[in-house]
Parts: sequence; structure tokens; C-alpha cells
Amino acid sequence: MRDEKIIVTGDIISHHARTKLQERGVEIDAIAEIVYALQHPYAPNLTMAECVESVDAVLIKREIQHAILVGIELDVLAEEGRLSEPLLSLITGDEGLFGVDETIALGSVFGFGSIAVTSFGYLDKEKTGIIRELDRSTDQVNTFLDDLVCSIAANASARLAHRLRDRDEATTVVIRKPEDEELIG
Ligand SMILES: [Mg+2]
Repeated sequence: MRDEKIIVTGDIISHHARTKLQERGVEIDAIAEIVYALQHPYAPNLTMAECVESVDAVLIKREIQHAILVGIELDVLAEEGRLSEPLLSLITGDEGLFGVDETIALGSVFGFGSIAVTSFGYLDKEKTGIIRELDRSTDQVNTFLDDLVCSIAANASARLAHRLRDRDEATTVVIRKPEDEELIG
């Protein structure tokens, strides 16, 4: 136990969450492509730039950042054999009944409403794009990471769906700048 309490600022957490994703082979554009595929049928004029913007906005949420840090840390520790048994084998083997990977990722979709929840379920089952690559990778343990990407994409998709509707209805709501984004939901 450490005696002094170290306060970790949001900037540091945000930076680490993004860096970890990148280190594990997940680029923002790859998540944005999934968002595009999910939302394009409902919004023919949708651009990739809007999808990237939505993924960036989701990655501002503390709850998502925390889930990313926990999940990726466990993947890496398992990969390095630094967890005790039987947890090590459950994670390295991506045991189907384990479920904690889905639970952590699912926990961070509730703030984005029902579209996020149903999209998460769809992506978890269909495993499109980078999610499939992660799921099939034999180079690294991605037991938590594939579900985290499902969560980020589902959240970005739901967020975008609501904002596109706002725009279509010509309300006064504008796409906000990252610094104006609320930290939850
Ligand atoms: Mg998984």
C-alpha cells in the first residue's frame, strides 16, 4: 500500500487510454469505419470525418478510459504470463463462459442509451472490421480489447445517431468541440 494519495489527472488518463489502444493495434480510423458501417444505412450523407469525431468524443468519457485501462492491462498481463492460475488460462484462452470482458465493456455503454446497448450486442456477435481481426489474432491476447472496441464503436454510433437527428430537425444543437463534451454519458 502507498501512504500518499496520488491524484491522477484526466489528461494523463486520457493520454494513456489512447496510447494503449494504439500500442495494441487499434487506430481511431478503424473504429470509425465500424461506426460508419453502422450508421451509413440511416444517414446516406454521413462522412468518415463525422465518425472519427464521434469516436474521439467517446474517448473523452472517463468511464470509457477507465474500462480501456483495466481491460488492456489484463490482456497484457495475461500475455506476459503475469497473472495467477486459473485466471491466466481463462484470459489467454478467451474462455467463452468467462464473460468479465463483456461485462466491463457493456458497463460503459449504458451512458449512451438503447442504441448503444443494441449496437454493442450486434458488434459482439458479428465482430466486424478490426473487431474480427482482434478476435482472430494469434499475436497478442485481445480477450478484453475486442469487447472494448465493440463498446467504443457502439457508443460512437449511438452518439452520432442522436446528433444526426438533431441536425436533421434543424434544432439549435451543434456538434460540440471536444473540450465542451461532458465527461459521462
Ligand atoms: Mg472478449
